[in-house]
Parts: sequence; C-alpha cells; structure tokens
Amino acid sequence: MSLGGEASRRFECSRAACTQEASWGIQWRNPKIHSEDRRKTWLACDEHLSMLRDFLEARSFPLTVVGVSELDG
Ligand SMILES: [Zn+2]
Repeated sequence: MSLGGEASRRFECSRAACTQEASWGIQWRNPKIHSEDRRKTWLACDEHLSMLRDFLEARSFPLTVVGVSELDG
C-alpha cells in the first residue's frame, strides 16, 4: 500500500525493539505535566498491551485503550 513516501500508515508497537504490528492504542496523560485535554498515544501489539498499560497504571496515569482503527492518525 506504500506510495513511496516516507510517511507510513503502518502502526508499529511502541515497545522498544518491538517491530510487531500494533493492534491497540493507549491514550494517556501525566496529570503533573499534561493539561486536562492533552493525550499521549502509545501503540501496542497484543503481546505488549498489558506491559505498557501496567507501566502507566503503576504511575496512576489516566489511560484509555482503543483499537488502532479508532485512532485519528
Ligand atoms: Zn510489541
């Protein structure tokens, strides 16, 4: 599906060194540094979803998990 540009629409897992296709988006924010309407998005494959989510939950960051098809960009 590539048109030859640099931008890829492929979603890749955010876990370091993982190159698997991501199935999930984790939208989160750090209440200490992000305003109420800011969201960071991490992408996760099936294998790393729980790991990345646990990382954020351990820090009490609010988060929402959505399918990549629900992400805007
Ligand atoms: Zn992964």
